[in-house]
Amino acid sequence: MSEKIYDVPAAWAQRAFLDDHGYRAKYEASVHDPEAFWGEEGKRIDWFEPYTVVKNTSFAPGAVSIKWFEDGVTNVAWNCIDRHLETRGDQVAIIWEGDDPSQSRKITYQELHDEVCRFANVLRNRNVEKGDRVTIYLPMIPEAAFAMLACARLGAVHSVVFAGFSPDSLASRIRDCDSKVVITADEGLRGGRKVPLKANVDAAIAKVEGGVDHVIVVKRTGGAVDMTPGRDVWYHAAADLVTSECPAVPVNAEDPLFILYTSGSTGTPKGVLHTTGGYLVYASMTHQYVFDYHEGDIYWCTADVGWVTGHSYILYGPLANGATTLMFEGVPNYPTNSRFWEVIDKHQVNIFYTAPTAIRALMQAGDEPVKKTSRASLRLLGSVGEPINPEAWEWYHRVVGEDRCPIVDTWWQTETGGILITPLPGATRLKPGSATQPFFGVVPQVVDAEGKVQDGACEGNLVIADSWPGQMRTVYGDHERFMQTYFSTYPGKYFTGDGCRRDADGYYWITGRVDDVINVSGHRMGTAEVESALVAHPKVSEAAVVGYPHDIKGQGIYAYVTLMAEVEPSDELRKELVAWVRREIGPIASPDLIQFAPGLPKTRSGKIMRRILRKIAEDEFGNLGDTSTLADPGVVNDLIDQRQNKK
Ligand code: ATP
Ligand code: MG
Repeated sequence: MSEKIYDVPAAWAQRAFLDDHGYRAKYEASVHDPEAFWGEEGKRIDWFEPYTVVKNTSFAPGAVSIKWFEDGVTNVAWNCIDRHLETRGDQVAIIWEGDDPSQSRKITYQELHDEVCRFANVLRNRNVEKGDRVTIYLPMIPEAAFAMLACARLGAVHSVVFAGFSPDSLASRIRDCDSKVVITADEGLRGGRKVPLKANVDAAIAKVEGGVDHVIVVKRTGGAVDMTPGRDVWYHAAADLVTSECPAVPVNAEDPLFILYTSGSTGTPKGVLHTTGGYLVYASMTHQYVFDYHEGDIYWCTADVGWVTGHSYILYGPLANGATTLMFEGVPNYPTNSRFWEVIDKHQVNIFYTAPTAIRALMQAGDEPVKKTSRASLRLLGSVGEPINPEAWEWYHRVVGEDRCPIVDTWWQTETGGILITPLPGATRLKPGSATQPFFGVVPQVVDAEGKVQDGACEGNLVIADSWPGQMRTVYGDHERFMQTYFSTYPGKYFTGDGCRRDADGYYWITGRVDDVINVSGHRMGTAEVESALVAHPKVSEAAVVGYPHDIKGQGIYAYVTLMAEVEPSDELRKELVAWVRREIGPIASPDLIQFAPGLPKTRSGKIMRRILRKIAEDEFGNLGDTSTLADPGVVNDLIDQRQNKK
């Protein structure tokens, strides 16, 4: 923990929407009378039919139900596009920066309108209607934004699947929400390398019983692909046949907007369902206040649209606010480690939002690639995805932001729809490594294992005591699982799954997962998912996966693997298993270290004791804790002897 405190810079005290006093007053109002507060904030978006009911939510055991603005009628795409046309039709909505630095494109709000309408018409011609699910498996190209907004325009529900996922992962996500339409590209392009997206889609659909009705293929690289007649169509060909007018379908505030699958620590991914009105109000409000967004600002969030950050803070929040949002196809270190900073200079970016894993990787490349750029346009920096270690925070602040840009360390989750704990740049004194204070309407509590609410400075599990408009509404198709996962551990409260500490100033410090989830380069994975992939290999009998500290990725994947009898361990087999997991889940899930273990430490009831495996992977042999409940304590010494990558 860092004890340093950074005051709000004088320039920020001048320009920001809120100072410390303003924050406190508004926060008090928001939790004192949520109905009145959100009733007013709901007006930040336009409604075909205004709402009369603001909040109708219950966290009651067995009867969790979350509704905001429930009788209002609106449309997300109409709010993100049409209402801006009169005043800012010619303003740039999206700046697209290609993987190749010579490629970029600017799309005005009027152009965005036309593109989205065309895409919507292409979907409509393929029978996509309100409520239908559409799977989007696209790289970071403008068509990803057009496709998402086109679904929203029709009231269809998009499910964006990160283009780094394997055919198997894609197949299970198509199946779970029963999509009949998939949107993809011929190939993706990242860091100069091509990704065979259409081929992955073909392989995925082959595993979906009954297949899908339509595959819409955007031409990105021009690489050769197989097109199945009657099912597959080139987007550009289909778009040529339709007009650029398509009315926005009025939908209810509680109609679904999108499904987004989390990695799922229990193996099967959860389809997190977000709805329309509350989600957009919350995304818009957080984007405005957290990034102190003012008219004319150039804003860049480096996330992929396949993650929730891309949904809320590349697309929906910024566009609802009429902002100029930058969308980047590439990676931080291509062609050089200066790429981020060069893009900032090229497009005069004012607000920059990225992840600790990228910051750490760039920090390792030294100051020189940063310092050779100007970054004079930068005013605010943001971080999201995992706790940012104070060392990386300080570097980001000092080197990238030249000590003049505040850092907003934003804590939130796919499930929360938007940022819940965060500094506001004009209001909050910063402590490196702390997400600081709750956003408006958010009631965090720290509880102990029994659910007792802790006071003052304390440490425990983080729960949220009442609903906020951006909250997920259910797990798609499985409300029971929704209640079980989030509301049963501490009945009557939303359990975040994260541990946290609150200091004497009331600042929140997120300490990480309470359960076993690993975070590799900002990509979160349930250990169970990697384990089940390993165990699916014919030579593997058992596997246990834990994270271990990794200089660049934050966490690396350490896999303990027990082989089938008669199978000999070898380096060959190690490589084979890594390739296997890559194929089963995707490159992000590749184990960094595999240790062949004849036995795993288990309790007498047969549960693997991960806390011990984690300690061994972390090189903390002296500190294994109580091992007396192990069925066979002898295995621990064997594991220590065989530890991979010993220092
Ligand atoms: P699953 O629940 O299936 O594991 P996920 O949790 O991996 O899905 P996200 O919803 O993107 O995917 O991640 C949210 C989590 O990321 C938080 O619960 C927290 O652990 C971590 N996190 C995000 N932002 C921050 C932050 N600023 N500081 C600390 N932790 C953060
Ligand atoms: Mg989670």
